[in-house]
Amino acid sequence: MAIPLRQSTRIGTYLLTQKVRRRKHFPLIVELEPLFACNLKCNGCGKIQQPISVLQQRMPVAQAIAAVEECGAPMVSIAGGEPLLHPQIDVIVRELIARKKYVYLCTNAMLVRKWWDKYEFRPSTYFSFAIHIDGLQERHDASVAQDGVFDEAVEAIKFLQGKGFRVTTNSTFFNTDTPQTIIDVLNFLNDDLGVDQMMISPAYAYEKAPDQEHFLGVQETRELFSHVFADGNRKRWRLNHSPLFLDFLEGKRDFGCTAWGIPSYSLHGWQRPCYLMADGYTETYKELIETTDWDAYGRGKDERCNNCMAHCGYEPTAVLATMGSLKEGLRAMREHG
Ligand code: SF4
Ligand code: SF4
Repeated sequence: MAIPLRQSTRIGTYLLTQKVRRRKHFPLIVELEPLFACNLKCNGCGKIQQPISVLQQRMPVAQAIAAVEECGAPMVSIAGGEPLLHPQIDVIVRELIARKKYVYLCTNAMLVRKWWDKYEFRPSTYFSFAIHIDGLQERHDASVAQDGVFDEAVEAIKFLQGKGFRVTTNSTFFNTDTPQTIIDVLNFLNDDLGVDQMMISPAYAYEKAPDQEHFLGVQETRELFSHVFADGNRKRWRLNHSPLFLDFLEGKRDFGCTAWGIPSYSLHGWQRPCYLMADGYTETYKELIETTDWDAYGRGKDERCNNCMAHCGYEPTAVLATMGSLKEGLRAMREHG
């Protein structure tokens, strides 16, 4: 199953409305981080190095919903930390679904089966689990610095599929990956597990991540993905990305970052300028949009952006370019159909 038709129609209508209204800045997806605590300590993580007092906090449901409503994004990706450590995460999901938001709940999956009875999740066309899997067993367990996580994630995927949920995956790649390790994991997710869709991203070099040696540079990313996508793989896999973003990853196209397209709201507020970098926070989305110098960010403008090819900056650019071109729009429909 690719993106359900209802979802792509709704997002298309939303984008068209923004264009007709001539809105300069509008969110495509909002990244919601209702906590920073996690049950794992991945080597490349830039989120769990918060002080204990912050790690202990959980965002109130009303605050999370108000932030999403204020920005108006049609899609919400709930991340963290590990969202399943939030005791009311199911309430947040239900409230968002009730507002007809498309919700992706990102999880490392370790608590899915163990804590299932604590939550009340129900299958919905508005709701997908997004399971973090960076590679096959050895590679994934090394990435999350704990044995057994891959096996549990696979069991959790089967468990959720058995209960009728949409299941997507989220994979981050480093310079320890080869084309073959990536092909192997995407084949496994696509063909063996039959997940609904897969998201991929080169890792962003978080300043706070414990492992600084294994982030990919731009040229390395392009070479890696041009090999990975060869031999018809790109067409065959159910990747949850626009064709232009995939072109960008493999170096066929280049364009700037649109950091305002996927804003990020956490316990600290709206994060400037994006999910990956924190140049301060604002209380409201309006303030974030109005007081950020968006032109100051992106490759060639800020050295912290120089190796970034992450989807949160470049997928919005690709989506907007697709919207602005009939040819690209038709191509996106064909490739997602
Ligand atoms: S599962 Fe996610 S939040 Fe938790 S340590 Fe790993 S990368 Fe960080
Ligand atoms: S390039 Fe864009 S998405 Fe990447 S770190 Fe810089 S501002 Fe954030």
